[in-house]
Amino acid sequence: LQILQIKNLFKVSSCSINLKLYTLNLKLKKMKVTDHIAAANGDTLFSFEIIPPQKGKSIQELYDNIDPLMEFKPPFIDVTTSREEYIYVNKGNGLLEKKLTRMRPGTLGICASIKHKYNVDTVPHVLCGGFTKEETEYLLVDCHYLGIDNVMALRGDAMKDEQSFIPKEGGNHYAADLVSQIHQLNQGNYLHGLKDIEHKSDFCIGVAGYPEKHLESPSLTSDLKRLKEKVDAGADYVVTQMFFDNSKFFEFVAKAREIGINVPIIPGIKPIAVQRHLQILPQIFRIDLPEDLINAVEKCKTPADIRQVGVEWAIQQSLELKAAGVPFLHYYSMGKSENIRQIASKVF
Ligand code: FAD
Repeated sequence: LQILQIKNLFKVSSCSINLKLYTLNLKLKKMKVTDHIAAANGDTLFSFEIIPPQKGKSIQELYDNIDPLMEFKPPFIDVTTSREEYIYVNKGNGLLEKKLTRMRPGTLGICASIKHKYNVDTVPHVLCGGFTKEETEYLLVDCHYLGIDNVMALRGDAMKDEQSFIPKEGGNHYAADLVSQIHQLNQGNYLHGLKDIEHKSDFCIGVAGYPEKHLESPSLTSDLKRLKEKVDAGADYVVTQMFFDNSKFFEFVAKAREIGINVPIIPGIKPIAVQRHLQILPQIFRIDLPEDLINAVEKCKTPADIRQVGVEWAIQQSLELKAAGVPFLHYYSMGKSENIRQIASKVF
């Protein structure tokens, strides 16, 4: 009964799909995340997120990590975007020059190349941070030309040496503002008053949700109100921050439904892989780790044992979430796929 009650939480208002359009889109491999969910008819699907390689590194390593995951038929793959950062360039005269650069560029290029190579939908992460609204519009126009119909709209974190997030002059401040901009473009409204309703974009927009609240937010209730603002602005689905205790996710979904957030909510799963995760994950994301998980990691004798604990924990989390009827299980691969492959082989 409990599972049934939880399953009801994941039901979304409009589940009817046009089968012909679906079949056509499937051939073209150009579908929205929400279409994939509707077409799955209640089944839980597999998806994952990758990080572009560092500047100067080959894309082959990325492909090598995607290849083993393709047998689990991900309908889409997310590609993150990183904030720009300051680096110090040696001028050769004993002086260092401070330069602003993006160390992992290429999100859109990677999306296009993965789409082409694997015939799978890709979801570029679009950030407020570091972009003017105009630059964002150029990026969205490129997405549209490339047949990329899904985007994840995020504020981005503060830059490494900033105390708090500062938008670029002329840029969006909050993710809700970015969602509004994308929504406007979907209506054919470009910046500077240009209107084109014939060739307008039709982006499916994902946003971030935080089962343990966003680190800057004063409370979970307040953060959920912010999430509702993003949905009201036009977001079509939510992907959550990682969590290690499923009860936090179930409570989050229940509270979201209570305040009228009716779009699909996709859980984000990250397996613990190294001892250091016990310190850095709570520090970076302000999330709690369950005592049982901490104890299991602390008992490990080798790095391989720790990885195995992380895999086993994620398998248990995934199976429970799947039984509860979540639409997708979305894995944070952080560019490495072996542990995700082990998990997926037990879950899908
Ligand atoms: P927002 O929704 O704008 O919220 C940010 C904070 O502001 C929250 O505390 C919120 O409660 C508050 N807030 C919102 N609106 C208002 C308002 N009007 N007034 C006052 N406060 C407000 N980061 C990257 O750099 N690149 C990525 O590719 C990336 N991918 C991610 C994917 C997922 C699934 C998740 C969960 C996070 C990802 N992040 C990424 C991290 C994300 O950028 C950070 O968590 C960032 O700090 C917040 O982004 P947001 O989109 O949730 O922001």
